[in-house]
Amino acid sequence: MSILVCIEGDEGIIKKTSIEAVYYASETGKIIGDEEVIAVALGSYDTAVLENLGNYGATKVIHVNDEKLDKSQIGVYSEIFAELVQTTSANLVIMSKSSFGDNIGGRIAGKTGASIVSNVVALPNVSSEFEVRKSIFTGKAFATVSMPEGLKILLVKRNSVEVNQTDDKAVIEQIPLPNALNFHEKITGSEKAEGDVLLDDAEIVVSGGRGLKGPENWDMIEDLAKALGAATGCSKPVSDQGWRPHHEHVGQTGVKVSPNLYIAIGISGAIQHLAGVNSSKVLVAINIDPDAPFFKAADYGIVGDAFDVVPRLTEKVKSLK
Ligand SMILES: Cc1cc2nc3c(=O)[nH]c(=O)nc-3n(C[C@H](O)[C@H](O)[C@H](O)COP(=O)(O)OP(=O)(O)OC[C@H]3O[C@@H](n4cnc5c(N)ncnc54)[C@H](O)[C@@H]3O)c2cc1C
Repeated sequence: MSILVCIEGDEGIIKKTSIEAVYYASETGKIIGDEEVIAVALGSYDTAVLENLGNYGATKVIHVNDEKLDKSQIGVYSEIFAELVQTTSANLVIMSKSSFGDNIGGRIAGKTGASIVSNVVALPNVSSEFEVRKSIFTGKAFATVSMPEGLKILLVKRNSVEVNQTDDKAVIEQIPLPNALNFHEKITGSEKAEGDVLLDDAEIVVSGGRGLKGPENWDMIEDLAKALGAATGCSKPVSDQGWRPHHEHVGQTGVKVSPNLYIAIGISGAIQHLAGVNSSKVLVAINIDPDAPFFKAADYGIVGDAFDVVPRLTEKVKSLK
């Protein structure tokens, strides 16, 4: 029996969330018995990059090295996956929780009749049944779900496992692009979000709210983000007013982030904003109002004027580097 892991990447670089998914699969394999962990990479990747998935517990990587697959087409990817589930006799499919994962996972479940759980936050408990813990209500609560016998698909949330690394290498098996694929969608172009670090993947996010008064004050946010190697985010009203692009809007109706550190500057901490950040490891709020709701959610808080605190913080970070 094997565990299949769906690899998500961009321009030949494997996303950190997929590395976590490989590690999650390998740790799960140890819990449920000696399972082979097979990562599946579709599109153009260097062999060395794929071999290094062995560092995180993949025993083998199945690679369909065809540039037609570089654009992550949902329909084609799920067709290939559903086929590989059969040919590898997989009993478990692991992928990272993302819009890509949700789309592919749902389609594979539809094609194979698998049970599927998204938003998984911990390794399974198999002491009696196969049980997984998932976050619900935008991370405000948790549910334990018992999964039936047969093929299972788990979509694992970022930061659900602490990844350890070895020097092991994975064996690469190249397979050709199947002939009978249906390329329904054709991606004719793509534009990247601005910024050195992308919000989705960021380890650190520096986010600004209406407390910053206007777009002309965003240099301060960008300077701090640059010093920390962070991505920039913002609250909804900030993007609604056109101070920042919409792809930076964090929250229930925007991007949901799970960085190691989220710094909220001049953001009140409305429940809709917190819904997008409450999977972050450490939350820091900087707000002039000591009663701002964000302080109730934050691990650390600085009560002060952002225009005074942020430049000092940036200088301090620079001096420590
Ligand atoms: C259906 C729905 C969905 C929504 N989805 C989202 C969402 O996805 N994301 C989101 O962000 N919002 C969302 N909202 C809006 C949300 O309810 C809040 O209105 C919004 O988050 C407030 O943004 P803010 O904190 O930037 O602004 P404000 O509420 O105006 O807060 C500004 C904060 O800045 C502080 N401040 C002022 N001056 C300074 C200073 N000099 N230094 C430091 N601090 C200062 C103030 O004390 C205040 O706390 C949604 C609302 C609805 C109804």
